[in-house]
Amino acid sequence: MEEPNDATPFLPERRTLGALREAAMGCRGCHLWRGATQTVFGEGLKRSRVMLVGEQPGDKEDLAGEPFVGPAGRELDRGLESAGIDRVEAYVTNVVKHFKFEERGRRRIHQTPKRFEIEACKPWLAEELRVVKPEAVVLLGATAAKALLGSSFRVTQHRGELIDSELAPLVSATIHPSAILRAPDDEARSRERAAFAEDLRAVAQALRS
Ligand code: SF4
Repeated sequence: MEEPNDATPFLPERRTLGALREAAMGCRGCHLWRGATQTVFGEGLKRSRVMLVGEQPGDKEDLAGEPFVGPAGRELDRGLESAGIDRVEAYVTNVVKHFKFEERGRRRIHQTPKRFEIEACKPWLAEELRVVKPEAVVLLGATAAKALLGSSFRVTQHRGELIDSELAPLVSATIHPSAILRAPDDEARSRERAAFAEDLRAVAQALRS
């Protein structure tokens, strides 16, 4: 039987964050639910002014059922703190809600979701955006940025800039915090960390003005 490729049939009638989160737990809109532990829906308050959108949950997030709780999440927290954005005031989510990976021995190695998997999952993010209506959306990494700004968008060329988009009054893109962890040495890591915080600071400043 052909796999489905759309989360839309799984959206609930009531479109509150709570109802959406609950319904997403049973989503079978694409094949990715099969290998993963659980759906990792977005976290945060409906009144959040900032929405941060990553690619997909990682190994730790898949097990915990919460986004950005692993090492990349700690880098995100660090960047937000340095930019003066309270994580409690930010809604954090991903374009894809199930962990995609390949098994190597006992390790589960992240795999970048494909276009059709991203498209299948987009209805959940569209609802999160509609309900939260954030003043600022920050796209973390190339997958999230391309998914929402088009495949020709280059984070390397436009990181930290304010981008004209219908997603929100303020839209920006930067690296995914996991890129900081992949830096080859301490010096490069510090540099990436500072640049990431700087990109988030630009959003915080724009929100204040
Ligand atoms: S990745 Fe998205 S569309 Fe696919 S099963 Fe999970 S929640 Fe549904």
